[in-house]
Amino acid sequence: MATSIIELKEITKQYDDQLAVDHLSLSIKKGEIFGLLGPNGAGKSTTILMMLGLSEPTSGTVHVCGLNPTRHPLGVKQKVGYLPDDVGFYQHMTGLENLMYTAALNGMSREAAYKRAMHVLDQVGLVDAATKKNGKYSRGMRQRLGLADVLMKKPDVIILDEPTLGIDPEGIRELLQLIRHLNEQDGITVLLSSHQLHQVQQICDRVGIFVKGKLLAEGNIESLAKQLFFEDTFVVNVFADPIDDSLIQSIHDIHGVNRVEMNHSTMDVYCQEDVTPDIARTIIQHDRALYHINKKNYGLDEIYHRYFEGRELNEATK
Ligand code: ADP
Repeated sequence: MATSIIELKEITKQYDDQLAVDHLSLSIKKGEIFGLLGPNGAGKSTTILMMLGLSEPTSGTVHVCGLNPTRHPLGVKQKVGYLPDDVGFYQHMTGLENLMYTAALNGMSREAAYKRAMHVLDQVGLVDAATKKNGKYSRGMRQRLGLADVLMKKPDVIILDEPTLGIDPEGIRELLQLIRHLNEQDGITVLLSSHQLHQVQQICDRVGIFVKGKLLAEGNIESLAKQLFFEDTFVVNVFADPIDDSLIQSIHDIHGVNRVEMNHSTMDVYCQEDVTPDIARTIIQHDRALYHINKKNYGLDEIYHRYFEGRELNEATK
């Protein structure tokens, strides 16, 4: 079993009369990309601040790379790179100078800082813009420079708060690819918070759905779909001819099929496991023409809407 690199046990954060995080337990494994997903005000940033030792939990325990961030904030800072949602760089300095400046503040020699800075600028695709003033960078470039800054110290974990906010689609695609690449190439564990679902879905190994300080569900997309859609995890859409009662009954009798619904001349088969081959076989055995068969998996958007618009949310936040 992979070891946990971030371990939250029953943490709460109370701000005056506002309970920002409510008994949150979460375990993030070494080497995974985890997405903390939820609307504004859910408590994502507060949770991140507690992981970094920048805010102390009201109760519960936090361990990051085996350290308690409240007691060992510097130890955590050495191992964890944090990219806030709006990175501040000196506008009048170039990308390279900005990196060299933070490296100097962290006690790195000029020579080592230059070497490392050029390497990370290359990793994030900013070598050509290294000597361009930061004020002339696009937001997407500033985010990549932020990532470069975080990578300077060779972190074990990077934590990104809403990294894709305000970036154009092409910039988002590049940034997400870059995060995935860093994860695969250097084995860096990544935690990112977002309310932009389909983007997160592209790169996260697991996501947690976070609403009003509570984690309502977590897992990979398939297991989330199972948790939220209960038994109807798969829907298989079929166009065969003719579709009659005897065919519908035979498909209904397949183990794992919950119900069959006619939708104009096609049929939707709701099932708890992927029985696409059994459905195809049954149609052929009935000597029917099979024109189309397509399995639909629930995506994160549907999962998310189900949660945020469905009764689960109302119940969980009562
Ligand atoms: P998210 O990052 O998911 O948007 P936050 O963690 O920023 O959510 O906020 C969670 C809740 O805690 C919000 O209701 C917010 O108003 C409140 N909150 C956050 N920081 C503070 C603070 N320093 N003082 C008081 N309330 C805060």
